[in-house]
Amino acid sequence: MFDTHIHTTFSTDSKMKLEEAISAAKERDLSLIITEHMDINHPEEGQFVFDTDEYFSSYGEYRNSDLLLGIELGLTDAYSEANGRIANENKFDYVLGSLHFLGNYDIYFPEVYVGRSKEDVYIQYLQDVYKNIVANQYIDSLGHIDYICRYSPYEDKELYYSEYSDLIDEILLALVKYDIAMEVNARRLSDKKALENLLVIYKRFYELGGRYVTIGSDSHYPQAIGMNFGNAKLICQETSLKPVYFKERTMIIDNLEV
Ligand SMILES: [Zn+2]
Ligand SMILES: [Zn+2]
Repeated sequence: MFDTHIHTTFSTDSKMKLEEAISAAKERDLSLIITEHMDINHPEEGQFVFDTDEYFSSYGEYRNSDLLLGIELGLTDAYSEANGRIANENKFDYVLGSLHFLGNYDIYFPEVYVGRSKEDVYIQYLQDVYKNIVANQYIDSLGHIDYICRYSPYEDKELYYSEYSDLIDEILLALVKYDIAMEVNARRLSDKKALENLLVIYKRFYELGGRYVTIGSDSHYPQAIGMNFGNAKLICQETSLKPVYFKERTMIIDNLEV
């Protein structure tokens, strides 16, 4: 089974060496897709971008059927053409598309939330996710739909399907329409409330015609590899969504038993 979302030293925010990731994965009987951060809109020069040639030349010798080389592209609609070129002009196995920014700010920054209600921010977030799927139809999977719940300052950070059903449906239907998988990002799945609410969204994805998910830990250090995969598998079982991974940009059904 693959962990399809891993950051090593080519990502600005990870110090994990590729060798450390590989040995942690072996201990857990997992295969890996490396997905380094590329947010070309990042306001700080040289942050969250990497040299793709250097990536392929230094990791190329490790590449095999259990170690695939992908990218996590930070999406912003103004950069969709440039992002599309990065995705398609390099020999990535997998392109994960993720929304990390709201306007000019990383969702991680407190500035995003100053003086704004949860509803206001979450509506803008979901509208932006939708816009970016339409603008970046080449992506293989949509990363962490619950990204905003990691960092928003509200007492109840959860994204409830019932509160934003129209906007969430729009996102899920766009994924179905453009044949894009949806990531089950395992980061928050140890939280019972997060698991319950995400399950509602994944069930709805299946109802609207979605069939495929990628499972990823979003690890930035070795101990996190494969974290919460029991609950990620539970989501697959409860929804009938099939876990997949991508090799040479082609979708392959994953086997959860190995
Ligand atoms: Zn991300
Ligand atoms: Zn990531």
